[in-house]
Amino acid sequence: MIRTYRGSCHCGKVRFEFTTQPIEKGLRCNCSLCIRKGAMMTPLTIPPENFRLLTGGPDLRLYQFGEKTARHYFCAHCGVYPFHQPARAPTHYRANLGCLEGVDPSRLEADLFDGRHLL
Ligand SMILES: [Zn+2]
Repeated sequence: MIRTYRGSCHCGKVRFEFTTQPIEKGLRCNCSLCIRKGAMMTPLTIPPENFRLLTGGPDLRLYQFGEKTARHYFCAHCGVYPFHQPARAPTHYRANLGCLEGVDPSRLEADLFDGRHLL
């Protein structure tokens, strides 16, 4: 089964949607960046053909560090992280579950990606 999820940053300038399997748990990462953001992410990466940025392209800022493979986006106005492109699948996306309509990450369990040691 495939579902469509819609998401936005806090101020609403950045809006996006994607299709994936129903989100029943999240993923956390303990790399030096994610441990600071504290966000819970989609458990699966989203291939580019299933991901659409609806608005806010010019409002997105890019942050990169280390090998500069992963692309970490944030909204220039509200600072929220809506999604990123992970180092291990740089054309794919993971989204911030807290940005999604109909998803309450505070009610979901999360797996841990050991980015501190694997990235
Ligand atoms: Zn924003």
